[in-house]
Amino acid sequence: MATTATGSRTALPDASRFPRKAFIDGEFVDAASGATFECVSPISGETLFDVAACDAEDVERAVAAARRSFDAGTWSQVAPRKRKKVLLRLAELIARDADDLALMITLDMGKPIAGAQTEVRATVEGFRYFAEAVDKVYGEVGPTGPSAVTLVTREPVGVVGMVVPWNYPLQVPTWKLAPALATGNSVVLKPAEQSPVVALALAALASEAGVPDGVVNVLPGFGETAGQPIGRHMDIDKVAFTGSSEVGKLFLRYSGESNMKGVQLECGGKSPNVIFDDVPDVELAVAQAAEGIFGNSGQVCSAGSRLLLQESIADEVLEQLAAEAAKWQPGDPLDPATRMGSMVDQTQMERVLGYVRTGTAEGAELRLGGRRARQESGGYYVEPTIFGAARNDMTIAREEIFGPVVTAIPFGSEEDGLRIANDTVYGLSSAVWTRDINKAHRFARSIRAGTVCINCYDWGDIALPFGGYKQSGIGRDKSLHALENYTQLKTTYINVLDD
Ligand code: NAD
Repeated sequence: MATTATGSRTALPDASRFPRKAFIDGEFVDAASGATFECVSPISGETLFDVAACDAEDVERAVAAARRSFDAGTWSQVAPRKRKKVLLRLAELIARDADDLALMITLDMGKPIAGAQTEVRATVEGFRYFAEAVDKVYGEVGPTGPSAVTLVTREPVGVVGMVVPWNYPLQVPTWKLAPALATGNSVVLKPAEQSPVVALALAALASEAGVPDGVVNVLPGFGETAGQPIGRHMDIDKVAFTGSSEVGKLFLRYSGESNMKGVQLECGGKSPNVIFDDVPDVELAVAQAAEGIFGNSGQVCSAGSRLLLQESIADEVLEQLAAEAAKWQPGDPLDPATRMGSMVDQTQMERVLGYVRTGTAEGAELRLGGRRARQESGGYYVEPTIFGAARNDMTIAREEIFGPVVTAIPFGSEEDGLRIANDTVYGLSSAVWTRDINKAHRFARSIRAGTVCINCYDWGDIALPFGGYKQSGIGRDKSLHALENYTQLKTTYINVLDD
């Protein structure tokens, strides 16, 4: 039983129709070993049901199905326009089942239902975007002179393994699946063990839309036992991974120790949100700073987890941020008015609370929050938490906390702000708030991050690339550039013979 914000008990909605088996070769099947693991809802700590726990044997079955489908050409060799139609149909089916899919996300990982609905809408847009793109991309004719016709064409890479995290369990797979499917690949996807359900539902919808059997396979399971065999498989041509930098590095190793498969990585971040004293709209900056770290309970790779404040305005911004945080107190994720739900599981909650203890021990000033919330619900909630007067060499400024914890660091000059912003192993996102267009542009060109926002935080669009510099990753999701991840170039050289 879940408990509402007022303490009265309510039953979790019925989850009996949610998928829980692996999806291989067009069918829901048990793991070959018969093993399962518990799917726990972090809303209340209750077990919803058991899910198939796949391992290397299931990876073998799925890769064989993917390879068969790829070689048969029923997807890889059809006209792009035909794939477009199927993927547009898939987008419609996702829209049709939006309420169910959003509920799966919320029950499985604790995101507020309004956020889950936004995620489903983004998924619909993602499939539409890549479906529409694929019959508008041309190959090239080489400038090789009159005695030859030379073609540069794009071909699908083949069988693509995908390993993804739990924070956006539908949207992150979509950023990979949609361009991979649009370009004709076959896929073996492993969702995170914390949130496996909605990816299984997506596989069934892909099948209903007309994606042939074997093209989309989804294997719930754990990193070591199901993720690693994907990374090391000799017949997987490419891996697309989103998750921590630590595990991203393992995928590079798996590739080097197996078949040198291509590896695309979207990893962690410790993104700087830099507010200068000439911020044009302090209220907007504060509202965006709050959303940037408390949204999705801070479980966002591009979260604005380092708030860099020019000294003269630091106190004012922190006071306003504490007031704004009241809107982000954790509530019942099933209530449409709730802005912040639970953490994904108990482990993540304890990890975050551990960082709060470390920050305090290292001398940062705990200005707000820092405790578990809604404990009576049985779920795993953390208060919005603000550290002030921090230094960039503190653990809470260096490591990714992945929780609703912001580390505010004061700085003096523009030069100082930029130096601190760049002083991190990560380079995913960043933002700068100033009225001065020259300062904004100097900052934008000097920051080593895949995205820089000016007078907003973490804004993006499916039409814009997303990914990291440094240890935040290799390659880009979203935009037409994502098609490059799932295609390889072929050169065809035709010698034009004289009669
Ligand atoms: P994680 O790296 O622990 O897990 C990600 C995936 O890798 C999961 O499916 C997991 O089962 C699998 N995995 C774990 N260990 C593995 C191993 N030894 N071999 C193979 N696979 C393994 O990350 P997480 O905790 O699920 O997610 C949080 C991390 O993801 C954060 O660091 C966050 O920044 C990052 N993230 C990045 C982006 C982005 O686009 N840059 C988006 C979302 C999340």
